[in-house]
Amino acid sequence: MNFGRVIRRNFIALVIGLGVVACQSGSDALAPSTTRDTEIATLLAPSPTVQMTMTFELPTEEVTPTPGRPSFGDETLTKYVLRIRLFPAQHQAEVEEVIRWVNDTGGAREELPLVIEAARYPNGFEWLSAMQGEQTLTLEPEMVNVWKIKGMFPVAEGEMTELTLNYRLNLPEIPPPSDTAKPQIYGYTLRQINLVDWYPFIPPFKDNEWLVHPPGYFGEHQVYPVSDYEVVLEILDSSREWLVAASAMGEMDSEGRFHFSLQRARNFVFSLSPDYQINETTVNNIRVASYYFKENASAGEAALQATAQALELYSKLFSPYSRAQLSLVEADFLDGMEYDGLYFLSKGFYNLYDGTPQGYLTMIAAHETAHQWWYSQVANDQALHPWLDEALCTYSERLFYENYYPDLVTWWWFYRINYYQPAGWIDGSIYDYAGYQAYRNAVYLRGAQFFEDLRQAIGEEAFFAALSDYAQQYNGKIASPSDLLDLFRRHTTSDLDTLLRQYFSSFSSQ
Ligand SMILES: [Zn+2]
Repeated sequence: MNFGRVIRRNFIALVIGLGVVACQSGSDALAPSTTRDTEIATLLAPSPTVQMTMTFELPTEEVTPTPGRPSFGDETLTKYVLRIRLFPAQHQAEVEEVIRWVNDTGGAREELPLVIEAARYPNGFEWLSAMQGEQTLTLEPEMVNVWKIKGMFPVAEGEMTELTLNYRLNLPEIPPPSDTAKPQIYGYTLRQINLVDWYPFIPPFKDNEWLVHPPGYFGEHQVYPVSDYEVVLEILDSSREWLVAASAMGEMDSEGRFHFSLQRARNFVFSLSPDYQINETTVNNIRVASYYFKENASAGEAALQATAQALELYSKLFSPYSRAQLSLVEADFLDGMEYDGLYFLSKGFYNLYDGTPQGYLTMIAAHETAHQWWYSQVANDQALHPWLDEALCTYSERLFYENYYPDLVTWWWFYRINYYQPAGWIDGSIYDYAGYQAYRNAVYLRGAQFFEDLRQAIGEEAFFAALSDYAQQYNGKIASPSDLLDLFRRHTTSDLDTLLRQYFSSFSSQ
């Protein structure tokens, strides 16, 4: 199958900096023998003697939307205007953030929660000011990653207000892999800066509560509403030339600042490196770009092709891809992670790439690409219902192999799933499992077995019709387990109760 022309370039438009590229020590270039990864955990082939470790004021500023006035995006969506001045040499950033928020919570609000993941790191987040118009607001920590804004002029239901936040980020160094700590994505290494969950955001309000959760020891805990983004990035005080991967394609102005715009997205992330090589291709007019380190050129190309294949397949099976681009970035740490319009793929997979699709590089590229549907397009409460996206993305790997490499489906079931003899209820929260392996085995692996059994029980047509309905009906929403399961029930006359009792704690007790 032709996935379009691959363009090899030695440079890209998103280059900024003064002078020459500084030398890198390269000491972090190759994967150590550690074997952890958030998505999978194991980099080595199964062996009976090797136990895989899984590893990680004034109300004058309030504006009521006026019918007919020019709009940017959806007037009811929260909009973030972020101006970030990044100082790579100091590992710091100064940010001015304007949040335009429309109160859709069903009542007047004088307080708002803000999710501030950067505040989890020692001295990682410094407040400079928080204003509603000319009104100075106060902020109080509620959890390690959640603060409450107080002192707001009341915002009535349906009204819009603007908050202006100024703060400084002190980026943490990304620590080496550890068996006791969750992999860290946010921060810097010798040759990569990752700005993920880097700005305060207003969490979703659903069923009369704010969906906020503390971090777990493993798994993800954030719940993301869809919002609009305008982002301006300025890189200062650096002698290096930085290549920038982002959730959207950017444009550089005459002052050397990058401008990005993204609508209806779950988040906006960047990854920067002076060392990225870039390959790109197009699928259905969507730009797919692979950012990798030069020692991993063939793996960078393979990850690009797998992502392009997966994007084309899932667009047919689930629903059309809703962005103009997707970027995949070689992570300079042993972890993989999905974000809207961009995902990270562990450098460990690149280092182990053997020239075939029979390995984690291709498998996890298919998995992470599926998150653009099961995470970005249809979101879920990742802390309480992690199986909703993770089991679906793991099962999407199977769909990838059966469509492109059918001879490898048996291998996939053994190597990815059955080797681990997965056990456990699939519907626990990230706080419910005894450790990462127990979590992964139940949520990801048993989760994939559940979808296989469900497909067998209800048949091909019903299975794929329900998945497609789920992708389209819950696009832009935060789906619950019953939303998905009800769609499967609607597409079949089969009794699913016995099956559900095998996999779900919530059904087994009924
Ligand atoms: Zn995943």
